[in-house]
Amino acid sequence: MKKTVLSLSLIIFALPGIAQIPDPVVEAIVKEATENSQLEKLAHALLDRIGPRLVGTPQMQQAHDWALATYSGWGISARNEKWGEWRGWERGISHIDMVHPRVKSLEGMQLAWSPGTGGKTVTAEVIIIPDAADSMAFQKWLPSAKGKFVMISMNQPTGRPDYNWEEFGTRESVEKMKTARTAQTDAWTNRIKKTGYSSKTLPVALEKAGAIGIVMSNWSKGFGVNKIFEAFTKKIPTVDISLEDYGLLYRLTASGSKPVISVRTDAKEMGMVPTLNTLAEIKGTEKPDEYVMLSAHFDSWDGGTGATDNGTGTLTMLEAMRILKKVYPQPKRTILVGHWGSEEQSLNGSRAFVEDHPEIVGHLQALFNQDNGTGRVNIITGQGFLHAYEYIDRWLAKVPESIRKPIETRFPGTPGAGGSDFASFVAVGAPAFSLSSLNWSYSTYTWHTNRDTYDKIVFDDVRSNAILTAILAYMASEDPVTTPREKSVLPIDPKTGLPGVWPQQKKATRRGGVE
Ligand SMILES: [Zn+2]
Repeated sequence: MKKTVLSLSLIIFALPGIAQIPDPVVEAIVKEATENSQLEKLAHALLDRIGPRLVGTPQMQQAHDWALATYSGWGISARNEKWGEWRGWERGISHIDMVHPRVKSLEGMQLAWSPGTGGKTVTAEVIIIPDAADSMAFQKWLPSAKGKFVMISMNQPTGRPDYNWEEFGTRESVEKMKTARTAQTDAWTNRIKKTGYSSKTLPVALEKAGAIGIVMSNWSKGFGVNKIFEAFTKKIPTVDISLEDYGLLYRLTASGSKPVISVRTDAKEMGMVPTLNTLAEIKGTEKPDEYVMLSAHFDSWDGGTGATDNGTGTLTMLEAMRILKKVYPQPKRTILVGHWGSEEQSLNGSRAFVEDHPEIVGHLQALFNQDNGTGRVNIITGQGFLHAYEYIDRWLAKVPESIRKPIETRFPGTPGAGGSDFASFVAVGAPAFSLSSLNWSYSTYTWHTNRDTYDKIVFDDVRSNAILTAILAYMASEDPVTTPREKSVLPIDPKTGLPGVWPQQKKATRRGGVE
């Protein structure tokens, strides 16, 4: 009997991360997240009802108001903090049809901040940007753009993703396709370069020359998926068309069939509008002036509904806050969540927060940010903080094994210089961490695409992340030790041969979308 007890305690001593002493708060977190999950409901309200959350749109404002109402329904105090202003714009319908040489409705949409067609349907021939000898020749050609829709993207040789070719193609056919595509891509890049304009200034030059609209296709290298970013035109619409329909128009144009399209896009300019962060907090009882932060950007691009960028990070933090309020309503430190605005235009909301709230950032125990899709968290690094291994390992030890075991930790890690909002905090030496997820084809299929929608959410994974986040917040709040901030010595930068330098704080853009 004695021997058994001894060997058991030896196991506990030898493997502190494995043997877990039951903790009623941890158990309650898991139970609440599993048996009373609100994730599906929250996702429906945010993604299906409100929709995408482009900075400066009424939908972004609605999302901030919805978050306040949601937190207040849970008895959590929340506020919207204005940190700047942005060009206000509202997306209306995009209808794009080919009307000659046959009729076909085309799959496409106007880009963010595109001018509309003024309530009218505009019909005109489509032409392809020419392969001019040089910028002089292009200037001579430019008047021919008058009254035309101009295609400015390369026609992709295949709409099949590489993984599909590699699965079914012969080695020869795969290589042949890739070689041809590379040559074609180089030639197209050169074609644009020879106009004397960049991809940003070319649409404006065409607009000045009297073009009716800009037609492009930003394929995301997966079946039926395009990335949707912003327009650069000031008066005429810029539309993105699916690879399939863009290829159709392109081939018809190249073969001399002179296709004609009809386009109606509605868009509303709304002047400058305020940009906000939503903050919500559960006040600390012992150390109210020390903070544990949860973090996820609230804004998105608007081709889809921003379901995985960053709907899922947002849902994780909302659900973790809800659970914490229910099972751990009196934390030792204050638990604060930041739902940031305008991350997509360079981390603006979180950078502004760091500038505006030294009293919080200076007393940050830890921040956990999630922003790379719907997957289960599988990597946490120390972001270059020398002692991160001590406390992160200590906190992770309380996480159920099924969630903790697949997480790879890297210490001290390298300080993140960008990518998401944790970097705004790391830059000023505050201990902020990224809960990095399994990718679920994130970069190809959902990141900034027209397919980033509710159906791509893997709710079991998001549930697992909400449990992880709530436990980490609980542990960070309870920890008797305030986290030390010593930075590790960074390795030599292989590019410069000089010692690595900590990333610098960057200023938030407080007035955006204007030149
Ligand atoms: Zn994101």
